[in-house]
Amino acid sequence: MSETRHIHCCECSEKVNARLTDGCEIYPHRQDLKSLPFWKCDTCGNHVGCHHKTKNRTQPLGCIPSDEIK
Ligand SMILES: [Zn+2]
Repeated sequence: MSETRHIHCCECSEKVNARLTDGCEIYPHRQDLKSLPFWKCDTCGNHVGCHHKTKNRTQPLGCIPSDEIK
């Protein structure tokens, strides 16, 4: 079972059950990112990266941005 966390998703305009995944899924063509953690909203498909360089490496950087913000 995959890990989930309540994160605010800008696209969905509410807190969603984001799913912990990694760069293999988010950026399949980016070898340099494949081991990095990401939280993904499966409702809209957007995602947010993590403070992966810190001790708490799966701490999300913030809310999940929508396509317009990116
Ligand atoms: Zn969403």
